[in-house]
Amino acid sequence: MKLKSHIPLLVTIVGLICLPLFVENPYYIHLAETILIYTILLFGLDIVVGYVGQVSLGHAGLFGIGSYTAGILFFHLGWPIWATVPASIIVTAIFGGILALPALKVIGPYLAMVTLAFGTIAQILINEMTWLTEGPLGIKLTRPELMGVPMTKAEYFWLVAAIMIIAMIVVDRFVKSQMGRAFEALRDSPVACDCMGVSVYRFKVIAFVISAGFAGLAGSLYSYSEQYISPNTYNNELAVLFLLAIIMGGRKSRLGAAIGAAIIVLLPKLLDDINLFRIVASIIAIVVTVGAIMALSKKITTPKRVAIPVAGVVGLAAFSFWLNSIADWRLSIFGFMILLVVYYLQNGIVGFSKTFYLAITGKTKTTVGEATAENTDSSVDFISAVGNKNTGAELLKVDSVLMQFGGLKALNNVDLSIKRGTIHGLIGPNGSGKSTMMNVLTGIYIPTSGNVFYADESVVGKTSSEIALSGIARTFQNVQLFGEMTALQNILVGLHHTFKSNMLDIALHLPRYLREERDARNRAMALLKFVGLENLANEEARNLPYGKQRLLEIARALALDPELLLLDEPAAGLTAPDIKELLRIIRKIRDNGITFILIEHHMDVVMSVCDTVSVLDFGQKIAEGKPAEVQADEKVIHAYLGT
Ligand code: ADP
Ligand code: MG
Repeated sequence: MKLKSHIPLLVTIVGLICLPLFVENPYYIHLAETILIYTILLFGLDIVVGYVGQVSLGHAGLFGIGSYTAGILFFHLGWPIWATVPASIIVTAIFGGILALPALKVIGPYLAMVTLAFGTIAQILINEMTWLTEGPLGIKLTRPELMGVPMTKAEYFWLVAAIMIIAMIVVDRFVKSQMGRAFEALRDSPVACDCMGVSVYRFKVIAFVISAGFAGLAGSLYSYSEQYISPNTYNNELAVLFLLAIIMGGRKSRLGAAIGAAIIVLLPKLLDDINLFRIVASIIAIVVTVGAIMALSKKITTPKRVAIPVAGVVGLAAFSFWLNSIADWRLSIFGFMILLVVYYLQNGIVGFSKTFYLAITGKTKTTVGEATAENTDSSVDFISAVGNKNTGAELLKVDSVLMQFGGLKALNNVDLSIKRGTIHGLIGPNGSGKSTMMNVLTGIYIPTSGNVFYADESVVGKTSSEIALSGIARTFQNVQLFGEMTALQNILVGLHHTFKSNMLDIALHLPRYLREERDARNRAMALLKFVGLENLANEEARNLPYGKQRLLEIARALALDPELLLLDEPAAGLTAPDIKELLRIIRKIRDNGITFILIEHHMDVVMSVCDTVSVLDFGQKIAEGKPAEVQADEKVIHAYLGT
């Protein structure tokens, strides 16, 4: 199995070695080289776009910065390639950090605009700083030297190919490590990501910096490949093309990046040749038709399912006749078809092919190489026992907290005292401020006044991820899982704090990283088993039934090794047997010395597990005590039932 999984890589390597030997025309070698260079850039861009889910139109600018760093160092200082390439990576990575600043403040279309502005400014600066960049005249380079003689076209191609392969392996390792999981987690649910102790702020910056590093690498290789660089190459059109390449090729895929690169390099060339244009146009038309049929087939009945492909074939024939007559409209037609591809194939060509393959073979999706229920070590201590020492001492103190939203006092001078090793219920009618309290405790809201002490330290002013790492884990009223990640990966995000390995450990697969990854996987499987999800380990979280999602969220919170666990309506939407299972799980966790705050509407749940219950109504605490006392309290009955 191990060998089999390496076959595509080996074939790629052999193909790349052979290409310059069998292709005589240097122009074709050059095209292939450009594809490889763009592929390297797209590996990086995919981290930001595919994994982190941010739009960047600044990558043409970063590409330019990489090219010019190499160009300038070569032109002014005569540095050799082994010095200019690393310098380009570092300089561009620094600019990536600068580009990350807007990414932390704005999202969506605003981010697109800000990054676009970054690209424009980069291009203008390159143009204007003639003393450094030679301005519009551009810089000429010669191919790097190999043992005193300049490299041949083929030799430089091999160098680029080797670097592309290394880049591919490194990116693949990054995105499959704890770092890649952090990227995906912050895309799927930033708030949950922070509450798992994975700082959204930190990992957005890291993603942009790494991504820029790859753009710098690509840029420097490009300058030697073209042997001439000038500012107008790095325009916004190129930035849009890069983004399009990721979307068309397929995000979160190395193959997708390569396909995307091939499309944006070859497409303009194909437009020049009418016959090639016809072939490509027909392929795209077929892809779009099949994509549309697949999209529709889920909703339509069988007779129509036959009719549509027939109509599709007839349509295609008509389409190819029509193409002959409108040769002058090529560019517009292509633009329109690309639009359709992007619209129908939202997972790009790679994603589409996968779905298509699964559809025709009738196989269900399997994830290879992931942990299975069988190979787990049941002796793993998946819950770190906090121990029952100091039971009854104060763990958390809420001191007259006021939380105001405009004129609304969602929490009005609430005091709470949570004792170690107990289950503290928090109940109250809808809108009484229970979830707001959780958000204050976990740093999502900063209280208007008052203070919160956890283990005698104030948490007000700390970030959510700092609070999480100090030992407070939580679940959410509206489940906040990392939807595109598997159940196992969700837990692994919770175990992020157990990793000490850095980028070098990951890139080289050093023992430290491999050990941490193995330990984390074992523990994650044990946690899944604990909540009864071991057979769903490789299922994407968004595909799990609702009740299972809630259990998964609890397991993920446990991965954080919390001392205090906050559950916001864990039984909501659960079936009766699920609730029983939930109670068993809660009791078991409590027996390990973990303290709970439990928000719940199901009174039987509250009554059966809580040691103390506090009742909120309109942001104020109206009662507190043993469950039975509270249940009998008149003010509580009044609040729940009205007058
Ligand atoms: P519940 O007890 O049902 O969990 P919440 O804590 O969610 O109640 O909400 C308490 C009140 O605070 C509600 O009136 C809600 O509309 C308001 N509220 C909560 N969060 C915000 C916010 N971010 N902005 C404005 N109002 C909010
Ligand atoms: Mg709520």
